[in-house]
Amino acid sequence: MQRFIFTVLLFAVPFGLCFAAPLSPAEQAAFKKRLLPQPQKIEFTGNADVVLDSTLTVNIELGVGDSSAAQKVKTLFKQFFGTEPKIVVAKTDGVPAASEAYRISATGKTLTLSAADFAGIRYALYSIRQLAEYNHDSEHLTAYFLPEVKITDAPAMKFRGIHICWFPESRAARIEQAIRLAAYYKMNYAVLECWGTFPSVKHPEIGWEGKKAKIEDIRRLVKTGKELGITLIPQFNLFGHASGSRGGSLKHTPLDRHPELLPLYEPDGWTWCISNPATKTVIADIVLEMYEAFDKPPFFHVGFDEAGAPECRRCLRTDYTQLLKEHLLYFHKLLAQQNCRIMMWHDMLLDTADPRWNGYTVCGNKKTAAILDELPKDIVICDWQYGTGKEKDETWATQRYFKEKEFTVLACPYEDTSGMRSQGRNIVDAKLDGMLCTSWHHLYGQNFYKIFSMGAQVMWHAPPDYPGVWSEVFGRHLRQIGWDIPITDYRDSGWLDWQLPPEPAQ
Ligand SMILES: [Zn+2]
Repeated sequence: MQRFIFTVLLFAVPFGLCFAAPLSPAEQAAFKKRLLPQPQKIEFTGNADVVLDSTLTVNIELGVGDSSAAQKVKTLFKQFFGTEPKIVVAKTDGVPAASEAYRISATGKTLTLSAADFAGIRYALYSIRQLAEYNHDSEHLTAYFLPEVKITDAPAMKFRGIHICWFPESRAARIEQAIRLAAYYKMNYAVLECWGTFPSVKHPEIGWEGKKAKIEDIRRLVKTGKELGITLIPQFNLFGHASGSRGGSLKHTPLDRHPELLPLYEPDGWTWCISNPATKTVIADIVLEMYEAFDKPPFFHVGFDEAGAPECRRCLRTDYTQLLKEHLLYFHKLLAQQNCRIMMWHDMLLDTADPRWNGYTVCGNKKTAAILDELPKDIVICDWQYGTGKEKDETWATQRYFKEKEFTVLACPYEDTSGMRSQGRNIVDAKLDGMLCTSWHHLYGQNFYKIFSMGAQVMWHAPPDYPGVWSEVFGRHLRQIGWDIPITDYRDSGWLDWQLPPEPAQ
């Protein structure tokens, strides 16, 4: 009998731990709300604290061998939580099959992260950073902890990108904030478009003197992106947007100070003169400089949107369709020789007069649309549609059209969250290749928040019951990013430079 009692006691303690009461609904909601994007499945398994200190064992289960995994986890743990747990890495069967998918299990003094590859492990650690609570019993931080929890997550699409603009008014810290946040929200590509700010050595006049990005900042951000799991893609416009300035500003980066360069542009200034052979040479020099500065990326975005009709005498006397095709194919070949694929906006490849595209954004005409069927299929078509969708169950006909023609197709919404949800569902339904969110001149405040939070959410999954996002959570994530940079300038904190206008109006 005595022996029986001893046996019961022996098993009672671990039994009690395994089936401890779950967290209260309020506690569960508070934890769950911190995650952005929300994971596919989260289950709170107990009410003990899993303290992220040196007594913790972190098991890394990988589907492939990775000799650097332990060091990378150690570095991230130190950065996120200031501690060095015991880390055990093992190549294991039964991990999530898909690249970037991950599982988390936190219980007692053990944290187990499972993924096919390190990209998934990195994402698991991002989720843990978002979820972690900290001590509330002293003035200073002493420890982070997790609830006992299981998380299962996987992206809804392979290409998850954000298009970021570097204007003369931009600061490197704000660009870095956006890149780091995109990575933290589990996006894997960032297109960086320099608006008159790329510091070309061969053609310095294409950027505003004194307002350009520093080449060392670009190189540093490309390297940082690789460490964070996000690939930076350069963009230079080969067709429209040749002014390197926003159309509404009526600025022209090169021509406002260099009228000697007029022959490179159509008289409207907005569109490159593609019948001038010198145009190709200048653009090619810049494209190759950018390709090198971005450390030979797998993609290069060539813009190509919203071009004006040819206006100069030389262009008007040519077969403009043939000229345009040769122009694009020249750069396609130039980059293909470097094993780099072209990405381009879609709008000039469809004819505005075609009734099939009523209700969608298209900017082309018969002459520009005629090149579509002669383009190589490895081009990535970035179909930008900024509206809500013209129908309740919108199927985004232009995006499906490009997919039917066997191109790689990315849906590109802006800041309409209904449109983002709808396009996210359509990407999955129509088996498109992913999403490239755009931010343009709205990389601040509520728009910044909507684009990044809803964009990330639909890239990972777009449940119809997703309750929305929370700006205070976004603020917390920006603060964590700020510690990583680290920011010191008042203007670089939060999502606005200033709380009050620096020079209040009279
Ligand atoms: Zn011309």
